[in-house]
Order: sequence, then C-alpha cells, then structure tokens
Amino acid sequence: MFESLSENLQATFKELRGQGRLTEDNIKDALRQVRRALLEADVALDVVRDFIDRVKERALGEQVRTSLTPGQEFISIVREELITELGGASQGLELRAQPPAVILMAGLQGSGKTTSTGKLARYLLEQKKRVLVVSCDVYRPAAIDQLKTVAEAVSADFHPSSPLQSPAQIADAALAVARKELYDVLIVDTAGRQTVDEKMMQEIKGLHDFLKPAETLFVIDSMTGQDAAKTAAAFGDALALTGVVLTKVDGDARGGAALSVRKVTGKPIKFLGVGEKLEALEVFHPERLASRILGMGDVLSLIEEAEKKIDRQKAEKLAQKFKKGKGFDLEDYRDQLAQMVNMGGLGAMLDKLPGMSQIPAQVKNQINDKEITRAIAIINSMTLQERRFPDVIKASRKKRIAAGSGTQVPDVNRLLKQHMQMQKMMKRMRKGGMANMMRGMQG
Ligand code: GDP
Repeated sequence: MFESLSENLQATFKELRGQGRLTEDNIKDALRQVRRALLEADVALDVVRDFIDRVKERALGEQVRTSLTPGQEFISIVREELITELGGASQGLELRAQPPAVILMAGLQGSGKTTSTGKLARYLLEQKKRVLVVSCDVYRPAAIDQLKTVAEAVSADFHPSSPLQSPAQIADAALAVARKELYDVLIVDTAGRQTVDEKMMQEIKGLHDFLKPAETLFVIDSMTGQDAAKTAAAFGDALALTGVVLTKVDGDARGGAALSVRKVTGKPIKFLGVGEKLEALEVFHPERLASRILGMGDVLSLIEEAEKKIDRQKAEKLAQKFKKGKGFDLEDYRDQLAQMVNMGGLGAMLDKLPGMSQIPAQVKNQINDKEITRAIAIINSMTLQERRFPDVIKASRKKRIAAGSGTQVPDVNRLLKQHMQMQKMMKRMRKGGMANMMRGMQG
C-alpha cells in the first residue's frame, strides 16, 4: 500500500532538493505534486483540498530551520500534517467498561468483518482476556459457520447462533452467556450488505442500542478508494462509531482510504488488516504510517515485530558470535531464514524498510517465501560440517545436497552465493553498526 503515493512524493521532494530556499513558486509546484499524488492515491477530493490548504499555510508561514534544507522542511511539514490528519497518536481499544465489554463490528459485506473479528479475538486472547465471539448474520447461513471456523482457528470461544433467530435474540443470548460465564470481551459480528441500505442500518442501530458496546468498530476495505469516504459517512451518521479497522492494507490499494476514512468519520483508525491470515493485524500508528507514506519506511513497526518474534536466545548467540569476530555460517543463515518466515515472510519485512518502496514489485517478488523455504530445505540436507565450513561443498556434495532437498544443483549454488553475500553484509554491519547498513539501503 501507499507505494505510488510515496513514490510520487519522493519525486516531488527530489525536485525541491536542489533549491536554495522555499519560495511561493516552488511551494506551488511541490503542492501541486502532493495534491496529484493524494488524488492518485484515491484520497477523497475534499480531504485533499483541506490538506493542501493546511500544508500551504504552514509552509509559507514557517521559517526554514537552519538545520534543514527547504526540501526537508517541506517534507517535515507534510509529515506532521499527515500525522495530524491520520489522528495524531495511536489509540488502542477502550475496554474499561464493566465486563463483558462488547465490541460491535460494523461494515459492508466483504469488508473483512468476520476475519477481523477473528483477528481481534486472537489479539485480545494474547493479552490474556477471555473472549467470546458471536455472529448476528442471519442472512447468510455460511456466515455463522465462517465465524465458527475462524474462532476455532484462534481458540476463541464461539457462541452458536442460528439463521432462525433474530439478530436481537442472538445478541441477547450471547450477552447473557458472556455475563454468566464472566467473559472479559464479547465480539459481535454483524450482517453486511453489498451497499449501505436502510434495513441494515436499522438493524445494527438496534443492536447498538441494546448491547451498549464499549467499542463500535467500522470495518472498511482499504481498496474501496473514493467510495470509502461515502460508506464511512453513512455508517458514521447512523452509528456512534468509536474506531475503524482498515482492512486489506496489504493489497495494492493506493492508501487514500486511511486519510479519507479518518477525516470523514473523525474516529481513530485503531487497527490495520494486513493479510488474510488471522495473525495479520497491526495496531495502527499514525506517525509510522505517515513516514511510510513519505517513503521513510516503517522501521519502528519492523523493530517491534522483530522483538516480538525473534528467538532471543538465538539472537543473542548470534550477537555474541559477531562480537567475537566469528563468521556467519550456514546454521546461522538457516536461523535467520526461519525467523523471516516467522515474521510474516520476506515481502512483509521488505515493505517496512526505508527506501524499499522504490524497489519495483517484480524484484521483490523474486525473493519470495517459497525461495526461503527451499533455502531452509537445502541447508537441512547438509551435514553439520558443511554448514559450518561451506567451503568444503564441491560438485559431488552439491549433487547429494540437491537430491536430498528435492532441488537442483543451481539452487544449491544460488543459496551458497546468497549466504556469501549475507556474510559480507554482516561484516559491514559489524564494522559500521545497524545505522550504517540502513543508510546503505536507502541508497
Ligand atoms: P465480511 O463479509 O465483512 O465478514 O468479510 P470477510 O471477513 O468474510 O472477508 C472477505 C474477504 O476478505 C475474505 O476472503 C478474507 O480472507 C479477505 N480479507 C479480510 N481481511 C483481509 C486483509 O486484511 N487482507 C487481505 N488480503 N484479505 C483480507
């Protein structure tokens, strides 16, 4: 997401880079490009207009700090305004109500409500909450089954419902169970239609009045572009929303929805859905997204993710090895590859690194997750000695390793080459530290 937006903005800033100072003239030019970039990213027109006015006002009124070039000053203004526009600080769920705290999920059909219900249940279970989920979608029998499957996948308790009941009856029964069995949170999935319609709004309003939810989350598909603003407005008018879950951010949406939805509803985006898998949920951080939009990369998210997932013991062992000046052997490489898989695959990681938005998608796709799995299989087919001292791997060993891992000799060669490159990078890292490597990546 946001790739074209960040690319466009970076092009603008490159043009500004050569300029000695900010003049009305070059601001006008830069603003026009930011405007075009936002429109191309499918941000609603009103939202763009407003945003440009604010940036313009600030840029013209502000002294360029001596420490910055005019281009940097401009970027920093755009960044700050983007953060404001996206809601300022990150806001989590407010579940302080007397338990069970109810989370009501609202949104159109296909927006990702059921999937997000599962993701949220998983997220709350991780925080040691007792979670019950229920579906009030009595129009599509498959919807109830779908939630059941999702709940099982994340080990959340599921309250069975039936298309023969009314949504109100289901809500009533589920709430009674949640109270009686002392659940912390009850997540209520609701029916969506393909477009906003009166009956759907009345029904969910009724559920809202009855359930008095602590959180009413509006789920919206980020790929809906311009329509996102309209749909958000309709839901925002009908319901007292408390937050937004923006889904399918991993798709090729151009990112305008985040800005539009926030502006139109006035409610914070609380979570991003970043994939079909049930762990693909991220807490939304406006400042990180603003940086991502500007192409500075989402290093903070990446680090947080890494801290969560990386096997500390192994990481420490590796760090120790580095300190002692020891090499990076194929065992270490395999650990690293396995950790990449853990962190949602290479693609997910790459997207968060600075400057990566400038790498064409084709190139990124070449380094795909299949490749990682294959590399791990190849290393697994080696003897311990081969992993420690890859230099011993000559033609006949390569043949054996390829056969053992169901690959071809060229695959083995490629892996060995990648490992060598990695080794070189690690050496550079040891000399210059992480910052140096990052700088190298930004190019
Ligand atoms: P609902 O009708 O609102 O309940 O929507 P669903 O939860 O059934 O989701 C509709 C489709 O979108 C399903 O195929 C989901 O797998 C997919 N989906 C939901 N959230 C995401 C997401 O964050 N990323 C991607 N790529 N797909 C998603």
